[in-house]
Amino acid sequence: MTTTDLPLLPLGKGRDLDAERGVECPGDLPAASDPDLVARARAAKDALGERLFVLGHHYQRDEVIQFADVTGDSFKLARDAAARPEAEFIVFCGVHFMAESADILTGDSQQVILPDLAAGCSMADMARLSQVEDAWDAMVEAGIAEAVVPVTYMNSSADIKAFCGRNGGVVCTSSNADVALEWAFAQKPDSAVPAKVLFLPDQHLGRNTAVLKLGFSLDDCVVWDPQQPNGGLSAGQLRDARMILWRGHCSVHGRFSEDVVDELRATHPGINILVHPECQHEVVLKADLVGSTEFIIKTIEAAAPGSVWAIGTELNLVKRLADANPDKTIVFLDRNVCYCSTMNRIDLPHLVWTLESLVSGTVVNRIEVDPETEQWAKVALQQMLDLPGRSHRD
Ligand code: SF4
Repeated sequence: MTTTDLPLLPLGKGRDLDAERGVECPGDLPAASDPDLVARARAAKDALGERLFVLGHHYQRDEVIQFADVTGDSFKLARDAAARPEAEFIVFCGVHFMAESADILTGDSQQVILPDLAAGCSMADMARLSQVEDAWDAMVEAGIAEAVVPVTYMNSSADIKAFCGRNGGVVCTSSNADVALEWAFAQKPDSAVPAKVLFLPDQHLGRNTAVLKLGFSLDDCVVWDPQQPNGGLSAGQLRDARMILWRGHCSVHGRFSEDVVDELRATHPGINILVHPECQHEVVLKADLVGSTEFIIKTIEAAAPGSVWAIGTELNLVKRLADANPDKTIVFLDRNVCYCSTMNRIDLPHLVWTLESLVSGTVVNRIEVDPETEQWAKVALQQMLDLPGRSHRD
């Protein structure tokens, strides 16, 4: 398969086990209409006891979150799993790259399970290893590779993290992207051309961090389009750039628009606009506050009673924040429903099927990273943990 030959797979149909996107999820699922699903999940969880640890990402549905032993962002959850070595089965209610990270950080005797194999991440799928290797080869040919440090967002597949580990790079979260970039630029003090970062796979987090936190200009940033020859960039553009942004984005956070910000400001005087840094640069510029999922949660928890907020992140989380903070007005920063469709593939029938299979002695949908990829991905993750200061949550 060539790097541009990417067949479109309707979610849940066909097989592409090397990708984050939709793969077939086998399994004899209980009917969604079964009135006993909650009782069945509870009974299976009780039967597994300490052997089981259920992780629930903030963007998961309520029907799933109620069975999570811990909730959080992807990196916190992977670390929580690593801190529970007695748990034989880690059921990750999230998406594929998160389960991979949990497998990398947990012990060999622990098995990480994703209840629906079709729960991928469209952003992670936008940077495939073969595409990134082609880009790197082009940078070697252009004579700039020795000035480039690859930095990948946590929201990437394990082989992209391993690529960064192999090439002197680092993983970052949306909380520490600025620290990771400062570290990366400091790695190449003597290069013949200006030091650069290849930022994967989310162009918006890369651009927002470089411009708003590190003081680069938009002209310092170029976008590498993997569908174009040489990324759609000239040798001169590559040589002069400081940030080479991969052309990837989150299909949820990329939807928020300046128009809706303007509309809400007009209709709700005094409203506070709070967005995630995966949003487009223009939206972030118009917001009052920008920060990671954990930052968004803490900001709302600490907000004054009576305050009014529009939040630009995944809808399940926004709805839970609104329910938990009835003394504040919390609205969603989009006119339309905007769930993460792949996150939402993990539902109660998949969870019940997963847990009951474990009770009967069958491990389904295990996510296992191969040893070499794991070794190099760990190098890039460890480099992140060694960055100075700051929480590492996304
Ligand atoms: S919200 Fe965006 S980045 Fe997160 S899993 Fe969904 S598509 Fe991926």
